[in-house]
Amino acid sequence: MELSRLSLNLQPSVTLEITAKAKKMREDGFDVISFGAGEPDFNTPENIISAAINAMNKGHTKYTSSSGILELKRAICTKLFRENVLKYDTSQIIVSTGAKQCLSNLFQAILNPGDEIIITAPYWISYPELIRLYGGVPVFVDTKEENNFKCSRDELMSALTSRTKAIMVNSPNNPTGTVYDYDDLKSIADFAEENELLIISDEIYEKLIYDGKKHISIASISDDAYERTVVINGMSKTYSMTGWRVGYAAGPERIIEVMSSIQSHTTSNPTSISQYAALEALKGPQDRIFYMLEQFELRRNFMVKRIDEIANITCFKPMGAFYVMINITDLIGKKINNLVIKGSESLSKILFDESRVAVIPGTAFGTDNYIRLSYATSMESIEEGLDRLEQFINNLI
Ligand code: PMP
Ligand code: GLU
Repeated sequence: MELSRLSLNLQPSVTLEITAKAKKMREDGFDVISFGAGEPDFNTPENIISAAINAMNKGHTKYTSSSGILELKRAICTKLFRENVLKYDTSQIIVSTGAKQCLSNLFQAILNPGDEIIITAPYWISYPELIRLYGGVPVFVDTKEENNFKCSRDELMSALTSRTKAIMVNSPNNPTGTVYDYDDLKSIADFAEENELLIISDEIYEKLIYDGKKHISIASISDDAYERTVVINGMSKTYSMTGWRVGYAAGPERIIEVMSSIQSHTTSNPTSISQYAALEALKGPQDRIFYMLEQFELRRNFMVKRIDEIANITCFKPMGAFYVMINITDLIGKKINNLVIKGSESLSKILFDESRVAVIPGTAFGTDNYIRLSYATSMESIEEGLDRLEQFINNLI
């Protein structure tokens, strides 16, 4: 039997795969340090856990409206208004099983075969895979470290064709950690307006910004940008709720309606209990966010300083999210135990086998000159992991 060609082209998520492998080996008694998936190591705040328990005790254990409970949609509207200066009606909101499902619903809702979506590279691994799964074509615009991993208007223009339907924006960015300022966003919004493109703005790392910078949603740049943007956000990173699986999208009513219809046939509502937990996350005290942010900033500072001390590697100082991209160009061609580092994949594999340190190869994000390390892990693990990385690099010949 021939399986679906589009599905067979799909690569499993490398971030999740490597993280699962590291976890399994740790459970089997191996001393593994994982800089794998971006998953905060803090537990979900107490008040959110209590809200979930209360929800179960109150009998909120049934199907809900498939696009999410009204109270949560209202709380999302309030959040978007207060924090992002965006005015939405609840009919413009869908709550899904993680931001990932929002993106999946959205690509399904907008793509016809051959439609193109512009994505800056390095990019988050699931964008191109999901776009291809639904018959679309990701068109990449490479960005460079010396330009803070941002691209120019001319570079965007060179990616434009008559099939271009949308542009992806992800600030703060996974994997680079770059954050777009007002001028960057204005330039993208103008480009989208002139070429009548939809803007997909993945803002899941919005609260994870350092050095006192502030997140700006591209949808707030102008009335036109508001009309043509679908904002994607979720609970996973901000509230350390990766396992609860709650994300949301806000945008033009017609698109949200189609996304809701898709969701009603695929998964129905996101877990009822998680929705009540998300409601508390948005409405309850926010002080844990500041604590977690402070910890992430300390870890970022430590990582950047420590990587600077290690010979033959450099890194881009992330402005947001919780990843560091290490430039490995100077390690290519070096050897250890007769194993040659040919690129980011062989480096990640040899580093894992030799030193039990899990990192994600840059190829997962569309670049072979980097490896990505997540610092959403404890300071002890970071210290130990970077000591091992230094030792490994010093042993290369
Ligand atoms: N967007 C980006 C940029 C991500 O890194 C992730 C990974 N968590 C997601 C979306 C999806 O997050 P979730 O499905 O956990 O809400
Ligand atoms: N988004 C996280 C990461 O990039 C989690 C893994 C995933 O969802 O693919 O590591």
